[in-house]
Amino acid sequence: MAVASLEIYKILPGSNCGDCRHPTCLSFVNDLVFRGKKPDLCPHLSPADRRKINDLVRAGSPRKLESYGQVMFHPLETAIKRVQPLNFSYLSAVMNEGSVYHANDNSITLPFLNTKLTVTKEKTVDAAGDPLPPGFQTAVYNYLATVEKIHPENQWVSFKELPGAVFLSSYFVNNVEGLVSAQFATRPEQLVAAARSLGGNILDDPAISPADVKISFFVVPKITVRLLFWDGTEEDNLPAVATFLFNTGIYRLDLESLTYLVEELVKRMIATL
Ligand code: SF4
Repeated sequence: MAVASLEIYKILPGSNCGDCRHPTCLSFVNDLVFRGKKPDLCPHLSPADRRKINDLVRAGSPRKLESYGQVMFHPLETAIKRVQPLNFSYLSAVMNEGSVYHANDNSITLPFLNTKLTVTKEKTVDAAGDPLPPGFQTAVYNYLATVEKIHPENQWVSFKELPGAVFLSSYFVNNVEGLVSAQFATRPEQLVAAARSLGGNILDDPAISPADVKISFFVVPKITVRLLFWDGTEEDNLPAVATFLFNTGIYRLDLESLTYLVEELVKRMIATL
């Protein structure tokens, strides 16, 4: 019987504060469900919520994890609350890489791919001044709340190798990477053109990977992702395969937000077709 991972996740505070020694609440769920850890390790739970989690872990549940896009995000209000105590001027300096602080309205201009977002403590808008969808804004605020702890390293791993990826990896493989391989199969030139239109750099170093197309995308300051694409072959009946690689230093950003940002990148590439 599947354990009620999702129900447990919804009870946790969602602040990804790291006090339980996990980078995110989602990775803490993993330990609660599969490694017998106790909810007491999260100091931000009420006794009643601890009891509820213990009951869920003990009882298990036939419910499966629902689809990510509908349920995995904590509400935007929670993400906005996380940034209220933060100093935007300082954060902008920490991010650097094209980020600009505006003292007049306490806002940050935040580069995202080849465009710019404007972030205040109330809302995030795109370059045209239109508010971003709630999920996108949630990802941006979660990113701002953790950016100080993101320290890029020289190691690249797939999504499923990131800490706590167990619940989202099949979603990511099927719905994000799968979308790239389905849409760009037999047309690697369009993939290159789409990537370039979003500011992606085409990598040609074979030491990185033997993939047919290798692209590096600046997503937001401190977060660069790589996309490897192998086109399918008819003779061998091999399908096209796309894999994103992430820098190990970004693990403090919660995986839901990371997934949202990469999905947005994929959506924008597909929109160029
Ligand atoms: S589960 Fe861990 S990361 Fe989430 S709020 Fe509790 S202590 Fe913080």
